[in-house]
Amino acid sequence: LKLTKGGEVRFENVTFGYHPDRPILNNCSFTIPAGQKVAIVGPSGSGKSTILRLAFRFYDVQSGRILIDDQDIREVDLDSLRRHIGVVPQDTPLFNESILENLRYGRLEASDEEIKETISRVQLDKLIDDLPNGIDTIVGERGMMISGGEKQRLAMGRLLLKDAPITFFDEATSALDTHTEQALLKTMKDIFRKGSRTNVSIAHRLRTIADADKIIVLQNGQVYEEGSHYQL
Ligand code: ATP
Ligand code: MG
Repeated sequence: LKLTKGGEVRFENVTFGYHPDRPILNNCSFTIPAGQKVAIVGPSGSGKSTILRLAFRFYDVQSGRILIDDQDIREVDLDSLRRHIGVVPQDTPLFNESILENLRYGRLEASDEEIKETISRVQLDKLIDDLPNGIDTIVGERGMMISGGEKQRLAMGRLLLKDAPITFFDEATSALDTHTEQALLKTMKDIFRKGSRTNVSIAHRLRTIADADKIIVLQNGQVYEEGSHYQL
C-alpha cells in the first residue's frame, strides 16, 4: 500500500452482511478524508464496528469497493494494509500474557524506553506500580484481570507503539467512571495531535463527536447524514 494522499478511506457502494441475504451495509458510500478526525455514529447494530472490520479486511465486501488512497484494499498486500491501520476495538482482544507482551503487539521491536514512555502516556503506570509483578503481570483470559478502561488504555498503548497513519477507535459502550474517561480522552487527544493521521472514532460519547471534523451517521445500512457538527 502506498499512501499518496496521506490515508483517505473511501467506501464505494459497499454491500456486506455476515449472512449474504441479510445485508448490514447496503450500497453504502462515504469518504473519510486523509488527516481528518471523523466520527461514525448510529444505532446499536447499524454496522459501525463492521466498517472497521471491513477496512481491516477481516471480511470482504459482497459488492462495491473499499479504497485507501484510491487503491482497492483487495488488491493490496494484506500485511502491508494492516501495517497502515491501527485499531482499538470495542472489546479489546488481549492475550493471556503479560502487560508487556500485550503492549508489544503494537511493535515487536519497541525499545524498553519506548514501552516506558507509552505506559506513561496512556496512564497505566499507577496500575503497573501497584501490581506485585508489575509489567510482567498476566492479564488473564481475554484480560479479565484488569478493568474495561485499563484494557482500552492498554490497547491505546499498542496503537501508539504501532504509529499507523490510519487509526480506528471503537469506543467501548460500557460506562467508564469519569476519571477513566477523562484519562482516555486525554490520551486520544494526544494521539490525534499529530495532524497527519487519519482518525476514525466509532463514537458513543458526545465529546468525541463534538471534536470531530466530520460526522457520519449510519442508519439502515446507509449513510443517513454527514457533515460537521455545526452542519448537522
Ligand atoms: P454497537 O453500537 O452495539 O457496537 P454496531 O453498529 O457496531 O453496534 P456491528 O457490530 O457492526 O454493530 O453489527 C451490525 C450487525 O451485524 C448486528 O446486527 C450484529 O448482530 C451483526 N453481527 C456482528 N458481528 C457478527 C458476526 N460475526 N456474525 C453475524 N452477525 C454479526
Ligand atoms: Mg460496535
